Amino acid sequence: MQKTQDITASMAAESASQSTSPLTPLTSAGSQSKEIKHHPSFEPIQSHRIESLNLVLHEFRHSKTGALHYHLEADNSENVFLVAFRTVPMDSTGVAHILEHTALCGSKKYPVRDPFFMMIRRSLNTFMNAFTSSDWTAYPFASQNKKDFNNLLDVYLDAVFFTRLDEMDFLQEGHRIEFMEADNPDTELEYKGVVFNEMKGAMSSPVSVLWQEVSKYLYPTSTYHYNSGGEPQDIPDLSYQQLKDFHRIHYHPGNAVFMTFGDIPAFEHQRKFEQQALSQFEKLDRTISVSPEKRYLAPIAVEEAYAYDVVGEETIEEKTHHVISWLLGPCTSLDEMMKANLLSQVLLDNSSSPLRHALEKTDLGAAPSPLCGLEDSNYEMCFLCGIEGSKVESASEFEKLVLDVLNDVATNGIAEEKLEAVLHQLELSQREVGGDHYPFGLQLILHALTAAIHRSDPATLLNLDPVIDTLRESIKDPEFIKNLVRELLLDNQHRVRLTLRPDDSLSQRKDDAEKERLAKIKAALSEKDRSDLIQRAAILAERQTQQDNPDLLPKVGLEDVPAEVKIPQSIQKKLADISVTTYQQGTNGLVYHEIVCELPALSTEEKSLLPYFSACLTELGCGDKNYLQMQEWQSSVTGGVHAAQSIRACTDNTQSLQAYYLFSGKALQRNNTKLAELMSATTKNVRFDEYERIAELITQMRTQRERSVTGNGHTLAMTAAASGMSPVAALNHQFGGLVSIQAIKILDDSHTDKINVERTAKYFASIYQKIQQSTKSYMLVLEADKEDDILAGFESIWASQSTTMQKDSSMSHFVLPEIHTQVKQMWIANTQVNFCARAYATVSMEHKDTAALAVLGGFLRNGFLHTAIREQGGAYGGGASHDANIAAFKFFSYRDPRLSETLDDFDRSIEWMLKTDHESRQLEEAILGVIGSMDKPSSPAGEARAAFYNALHERTPEKIQAYRQRILAVSMADLKRVTEKYLQQGTPSTAVITSASTLESSGNLGLEVIHL
Ligand SMILES: [Zn+2]
Repeated sequence: MQKTQDITASMAAESASQSTSPLTPLTSAGSQSKEIKHHPSFEPIQSHRIESLNLVLHEFRHSKTGALHYHLEADNSENVFLVAFRTVPMDSTGVAHILEHTALCGSKKYPVRDPFFMMIRRSLNTFMNAFTSSDWTAYPFASQNKKDFNNLLDVYLDAVFFTRLDEMDFLQEGHRIEFMEADNPDTELEYKGVVFNEMKGAMSSPVSVLWQEVSKYLYPTSTYHYNSGGEPQDIPDLSYQQLKDFHRIHYHPGNAVFMTFGDIPAFEHQRKFEQQALSQFEKLDRTISVSPEKRYLAPIAVEEAYAYDVVGEETIEEKTHHVISWLLGPCTSLDEMMKANLLSQVLLDNSSSPLRHALEKTDLGAAPSPLCGLEDSNYEMCFLCGIEGSKVESASEFEKLVLDVLNDVATNGIAEEKLEAVLHQLELSQREVGGDHYPFGLQLILHALTAAIHRSDPATLLNLDPVIDTLRESIKDPEFIKNLVRELLLDNQHRVRLTLRPDDSLSQRKDDAEKERLAKIKAALSEKDRSDLIQRAAILAERQTQQDNPDLLPKVGLEDVPAEVKIPQSIQKKLADISVTTYQQGTNGLVYHEIVCELPALSTEEKSLLPYFSACLTELGCGDKNYLQMQEWQSSVTGGVHAAQSIRACTDNTQSLQAYYLFSGKALQRNNTKLAELMSATTKNVRFDEYERIAELITQMRTQRERSVTGNGHTLAMTAAASGMSPVAALNHQFGGLVSIQAIKILDDSHTDKINVERTAKYFASIYQKIQQSTKSYMLVLEADKEDDILAGFESIWASQSTTMQKDSSMSHFVLPEIHTQVKQMWIANTQVNFCARAYATVSMEHKDTAALAVLGGFLRNGFLHTAIREQGGAYGGGASHDANIAAFKFFSYRDPRLSETLDDFDRSIEWMLKTDHESRQLEEAILGVIGSMDKPSSPAGEARAAFYNALHERTPEKIQAYRQRILAVSMADLKRVTEKYLQQGTPSTAVITSASTLESSGNLGLEVIHL
């Protein structure tokens, strides 16, 4: 759910919610000798082996302060550290969030202004960030290099326990007032501050507002009532003293939870915790916790508004959200949590689940709400469901719809095989080794953190196997689910129905209120106040340009970089009729199938519908099954099947490309043959006659895409700016960029006439038919010791099919026209913050200059853009990067209050690069950054898939290794040369995303204005 703020813009969704279980202790009480070695300042509490995750969880307590340490001992060299504090603010000033930022602005041992971002550059970390959630603040990092891990640990421990909390940092990160022209007291006042702007951006997302409003009513008296990230209108109420007080109470070891994962022994961690921090603290005399919520005795219905700035011709009539939520029991009760999880999955898992089915089919709204499911990280859990794209007056009809479904389940129950499918999903998600978005160890830690924060047992949260067995027994009783839906939902009076309606003048009123507040402050300023403000702004600006001595911080260097990049090796297996590429990886009992076809030539219409075709393909019926039956089939034997196109430029020429079509699926090993059977059906028998379903899916996609702008605006702006550089760049814009948002609106609107839905379906069928005729190849990711069985099962399905391995020479390939055009666009969207992007044409992967261009991106960000755009400009983020796939060098800003000034900063960074004498340290840091991102591990299956698709697109291990060598050899002269050649002498393409009101005040900056 939308409840966590982070310090850098790299946040992905938290791992899917799971549940809890009882555990058998690894060592019985008294057999202390078997316990893991620990530091004498800590005492062991318990140890549990968790079979399904192949790790041992140890719990320790620091004797003097009571700090907790959970160590997940695993044979994994990507070690993870996290320290979390319970933070339970009772207002919306964002105190916990501003503290999270300010704590990372220098400490006793590391008195530099910005150790967090300085360390990012001097490290081989695979993850660094800081999070503020609704009831905790956490500082995690991960690294595969032990020296690096210990460097980061030193800096993190000092940052959280011995932070300086300089008032200047509070002003920079939190909030302050300045004159619009900082040295001119005749200009208006304005609010500035990183968190202030960050939250303006975050709260311009309707889904964030929706979650905040639901919480406000569902939790009337506890900390969840407030916005821990901070509401822009409340942030200025926070004083520096309040920030310091909050730190003193909350950032104490007695309120801390340490969590570690990996192969570094617990003892080593504890020695550092003790020596560098804990030994200097006494016991804390107060306990921070969340108390149970006051319960409503009857359901309530409320209405709130969110700001919606109308763009172009659109109307706001159908932009209303309705959500119903129930407050459930505490997440510390394993039993409650498990049952709630089961019920939530039964109701919402897929399109054939009763509640999701109703929310998808209803004409009351366009799509199910993004807030659907169980939220189990707050102390007391809640269950939510809703619709978006609705009308205000549909509220009670919507409520009736939901209650009717629940009553039906309470009366008629759910078929046992459907319940079994849900348990199968829980089992599969428990077993799957993740790590594609977050380090795997961090996923586990974040999952277990809720229990640790609320003083329950994290071990139970990490092991589902025993509890799934218990539930398998429970569901045999037909009354079980019926009782559950009554007990948790129908009879539960703490229920809130929220209607969130759009208000097209709310952002104007908010602006006016802010201006009025500032005008009052200004009117009350004395002569001295005014000169103080001017002086303070000057000091802050001066301070931001100061270079701290980087030698105050520990570092790793190029000497610590491994010589080679690790790429999983494939094995070719010749079976009787087919040839299969396999990768042997530690998948923990799962198997992954990939069927690859060459993408054939498509007509213009087919091409424009390809992304929608892909999104719909595995959501439709197949053979004699309708889509609901297909959803049930998928849910009972797989962990999901997907279809997608994979189109990349050639490595030596970005104007030409290679295109494939993929079918992917995963399953528990015992379902290997069933998965093959299902995927075979998906490549052969998909039906395109379910017109209503197709129209519904397109509408759901549209609502998703429309709200993607505030979270993903920088990518959308960069994709637009680069869209004239190469055919693949143009296609990215067409398939996933701003143009695609316009296109899906038009497509969806056209579907009000059923003839047009049939037309879409007809094109889908013709794309499908062409793909079927193309050559297929096969790839499997599996565990070595199961290989023979898996291959035999796979072959039994696929070999019987008359797939010709001979290339059909008459088939023509997917091609796109060459393109070289300059882009100058200003996109007007419903947003309160801006996103700026600029792109320059460069060269493809094999060209000798790509290495220098890749290093240049980090060099400009570290040395110039971060300071200019984030620290001074007040944006949440800004940077530059090279994309060899589309041959473009791209600048961007993220959630930016400025527009033309940021574009000027992009230009100034080029000048800075060319005219400044730089230190060799800066070059080393930029190279480390590129190498670090190349070496970032992902999941075992994800690494195999990446290797396979890289090889398919001619990014062979040899080419990747050679590229890595060229990165390591980049010199300062190379950087200046490519800056001059591609940027200074290049033609910039520009795209920005902004609001109608900014267009009004700033003009179009010479850009073409396009309404989204
Ligand atoms: Zn933040």
